Amino acid sequence: MSHHATAGTFLAIPGALWFLLLTVAAAGALAWSLSRKWQLLTAGTGRVPLDRWGERIRGLLVFAIGQKRMFQEPLAGVMHALIFWGFLVFSVRSLSLIVEGLTRGWELPFLHTPVGSAYLFTKDVFIVLVLAGVAVAAWRRLVTRPARLELSADAWVILGLIATLMVTDALADGARIAGGAPGNWSWTPVSAMVGGWLAGSQAAALHATYTASWWVHLVALYVFANYLPYSKHFHVYTSLPNVLLRPLDPPGRLTPMDLENIQEGSTFGAQRITDLTWKQRLDLYSCTECGRCTVVCPTTITHKPLIPRDLTIALRDHLNDSAKEIIGDPGGASGVPSRELAGDVIDPQVVWACTSCRWCEEACPIFISYVDRIVEMRRHLVLEKATFPEEAEPAFRGMEVNGNPWQLAAETRADWAKGLGVPLAAEGGEFEYLFWVGCAGSFDDAGKRTSQAFVRLLQEAGVSFAILGPEESCTGDAARRLGNEYLFQTLAQTNVETLNRYGVKKIVTNCPHCFNTLAHEYPDFGGRYEVVHGTQLIARLLAEGRLTLTGEVRREITYHDPCYLGRTNGEFRAPRAILSAIPGLTLKEAPLSGRRAMCCGAGGGRMWLEEKLGERINQVRVRQLQESGCRDVAVACPFCAVMVSNGQQELGQEEARTFDVVELAAQALGRRDAAS
Ligand code: SF4
Ligand code: SF4
Repeated sequence: MSHHATAGTFLAIPGALWFLLLTVAAAGALAWSLSRKWQLLTAGTGRVPLDRWGERIRGLLVFAIGQKRMFQEPLAGVMHALIFWGFLVFSVRSLSLIVEGLTRGWELPFLHTPVGSAYLFTKDVFIVLVLAGVAVAAWRRLVTRPARLELSADAWVILGLIATLMVTDALADGARIAGGAPGNWSWTPVSAMVGGWLAGSQAAALHATYTASWWVHLVALYVFANYLPYSKHFHVYTSLPNVLLRPLDPPGRLTPMDLENIQEGSTFGAQRITDLTWKQRLDLYSCTECGRCTVVCPTTITHKPLIPRDLTIALRDHLNDSAKEIIGDPGGASGVPSRELAGDVIDPQVVWACTSCRWCEEACPIFISYVDRIVEMRRHLVLEKATFPEEAEPAFRGMEVNGNPWQLAAETRADWAKGLGVPLAAEGGEFEYLFWVGCAGSFDDAGKRTSQAFVRLLQEAGVSFAILGPEESCTGDAARRLGNEYLFQTLAQTNVETLNRYGVKKIVTNCPHCFNTLAHEYPDFGGRYEVVHGTQLIARLLAEGRLTLTGEVRREITYHDPCYLGRTNGEFRAPRAILSAIPGLTLKEAPLSGRRAMCCGAGGGRMWLEEKLGERINQVRVRQLQESGCRDVAVACPFCAVMVSNGQQELGQEEARTFDVVELAAQALGRRDAAS
């Protein structure tokens, strides 16, 4: 039996020539498809990040090659990892088969070394593992049907092609083994087993089996490669670069707009798909449609129109549909698509629903970003069209005129501190920490209680601090996330000027939104400070023995992680350390806590908007928190405090209470059960 599938002739044309023609056609078609996608990607704005390669490659190894985030769901993770790792192993095999088909007698150069034996063994074992992965994928689609999976013909085509590649590989080698072909077959147990099944067949039948399997394998490979760019499985090509080139900035930092150098005819924010950066478009092409983002999104959970996966798919389909307008026919002129994003492609209600909680981004196995894309669309609506939910208008006006979204008089900003001996920076004394009180800490009743409690703790620990008082203004977090970049930058510049005038080096704040903006966004405006959250400072003072909590607070309580302290800034430990240090207090975790805590509904500027659609997010969150078995909730964010407390009241839970962690710590300063 010949050991070369292209050795014969067909229609008097040598098999090798047929294979060459097939390979050229497949490679040409793939190159054309990829070049169209490449042009659609590179028609975008934004630089390619070429920094921190060590971190990028580490992330690639851990998250892409190692599939780390996939294992958050063990069965699905194992299934995908087997198929993905098999894909990597078989890419070497596929290349060798192509060269083998074109060059008679060619073999992998290392095939007869120990490395070759190890490779053959691995490849053979992966035939079974990949088929097992395909079987699990089919089982999930046919039987268990997880809610996040959409049944699509596309998935079946891909699973069928993968299974075909595995089966034909084993059959081709099995036929060769049964036909007595020379080779290191002791390292190919699966093919040897198939060879055993075929043993005793006639030589002609074995040859036909080998030749047919080889050709079907290669044709399936070429169909697979050419089908991918037109399917959701295009991520096979794009996910590795997407993980490699993921943003490494702090996740809570939004990219500033250059408002000082506005070009003639330029557009604010994302009006059209071409206004998204190339990376945002690579995100669209990388989405696997797995739905992991969707099952955790608070707006989807509460039946609002924002469904992250659908948003990505709609934008991706629009990008593909706009290919003619963007890059023209082959050789044609470039242009911009006629359809706008918000309004024509995406319902504006989708754009305004996001709370910027970033759980979707945390859940996405390939680091697809949502918040920046959504804020870009909001920027366009606000700055170009002046179209935004009407409730945002008073908040914008309040921030602009009074320096706070409550629209309260700026000169009353420090009234909460009267009689507490709180120094103002303007008094000229030395201080270590600038206590950034924030709008909620200055004007909201619960926020004011937290500020007063925090002052008690600082004074007890002997920390030198000062506040800006009426010179403090809103950080602009909500304005920025609602798309009003102009207002945000005005506030940021004023605040940075004030802080720098006082030579501020360290800032402590109880508001995670202020924390995020001061720490990660003010550096873009010349404000570089060491910023800590109030709970981080208190936890440190406790650990250093500068603060001791001796008063009992007899409560069972659960802790709600604020998105901007927890998921966005990675602080889960400090609030829990404080709660654990309070005598008499028992902390019970809710099932959805820590990194998996759902948003309260206030982020992304939603604090200032009506929630008219679906269930209220704060009520759903309160119910989730009660799964801890606790009635009372501790928070570490003034906006969470408002939302959770309102949720408890809306659900008729008269007895339930919401406390800031700082407030509870102050209650434990030597008094007996002040909270009860
Ligand atoms: S940031 Fe939060 S609210 Fe916005 S799409 Fe993602 S999960 Fe949904
Ligand atoms: S954005 Fe990420 S998590 Fe969401 S469907 Fe796409 S790949 Fe899955």
